[in-house]
Amino acid sequence: MAQLSPLLKQATPVLAERGEGVYLYDAGGRRHLDFTAGIGVTNTGHCHPRVVEAARAQVGTLIHGQYTTVMHRPLLRLVEALGDVLPDGLDTLFFLNSGSEAVEASIRLARHATGRQNIVVFHGSFHGRTMGAAALTTAGTKFRAAIGPLMPGVAVAPFPQAYRYGWDEDEATRFALRELDYVLATSSPVSDTAAFVVEPVLGEGGYIPAPPAFLEGLRERADRHGILLVVDEVQTGYGRTGRFWGHQHAAIRPDVLITAKGLASGFPLSAIAAPAALMGKAWPGSQGGTYGGNAVACAAALATLEVIRDENLVENAAVLGARLNEGLRKAAADHPEIGDVRGLGLMQACEFSTPDGEPDPAAAQRAHAAAAERGLLLLTCGAFGNVVRMIPPLVVDASQIDDALALWSDALGDAAAHGAAERDT
Ligand code: PMP
Repeated sequence: MAQLSPLLKQATPVLAERGEGVYLYDAGGRRHLDFTAGIGVTNTGHCHPRVVEAARAQVGTLIHGQYTTVMHRPLLRLVEALGDVLPDGLDTLFFLNSGSEAVEASIRLARHATGRQNIVVFHGSFHGRTMGAAALTTAGTKFRAAIGPLMPGVAVAPFPQAYRYGWDEDEATRFALRELDYVLATSSPVSDTAAFVVEPVLGEGGYIPAPPAFLEGLRERADRHGILLVVDEVQTGYGRTGRFWGHQHAAIRPDVLITAKGLASGFPLSAIAAPAALMGKAWPGSQGGTYGGNAVACAAALATLEVIRDENLVENAAVLGARLNEGLRKAAADHPEIGDVRGLGLMQACEFSTPDGEPDPAAAQRAHAAAAERGLLLLTCGAFGNVVRMIPPLVVDASQIDDALALWSDALGDAAAHGAAERDT
């Protein structure tokens, strides 16, 4: 009898039978408030009727066309629709299936276009698990250990992690940019550096928003040195942070934008976007794959973009993100094990620390498990696993945010009691 790999580590005990909006229903009929959204994917909620209908109609018309063989309308329509929401000038797209593949495509494009080899990433980065993307990932040893040698030509510079450094955001930003200049003068000389790859909010690395001045500092250095600024919006796109794209909290325009997750509400689809002149520098035949730009996924993506627009999901994320942040701060006031509450829009997190300010993954795990028991599904993240994050679908309403906050407050009480009981035994 076949079985799933024992390496599969399921964050919650739920066997999901059905999803509707912000809720998942398990095999026993129990309802769970899903603040994981399939790791930031189902922004339009589970099984949004317009997405379901678009996909259903496409399945009966053309499932797969393969864009290097024949073109199909859902892909052409999606290109047009994305043109309305992409930053000015990033008007040329290439489609793949997953975030990791889009990251790989951006590495190839950056190397081809600049003739330089090195990619600079930032501490706490997560860009995926394929070999190139894993080489760009520094958010924890589990993503890198025992699989090397990884792709060479990667340099790492600090990300402004104000809370962990015990600094304010300006100090952390100054430090990170100074260290980046040092990297460019030493381990990754400018003449060898093709690109900076950066997340507007560190995702798996702990939900740490990049200070706007940091992203602007990267843009300035990229311009000065002929380096490409590649922004990985896999987790931060489609309104998640309260702006359409996460980088729009800063006054920058990327050279390459990587997108996936929320693009098609759960159908596998990703893309890179760049100006035509830059995209044209990719080596012919070097990009792509069999399923990239699948017709059903493209139809679902089109419906997703319409729902985001028609239901004002970007604004909803900004307004309800502020409500969630405020509620999390109130809850944290009674729980000293929560050292920091932070996030942008509906991408919020609590970082757990010991009384000495060290990462406390055990406390985060207890809170996460207690929340799941009460019917609130969450995820952990952070290089030390000590951050609990909340990423509800963007269709969430105020009363569901308040329900989640009430469950979270109770869960923190349960977790503190469990922690005390563990210490006593
Ligand atoms: N980049 C970022 C910022 C991500 O958050 C992720 C997934 N968590 C990826 C890339 C990789 O995407 P995928 O899992 O679809 O390969």
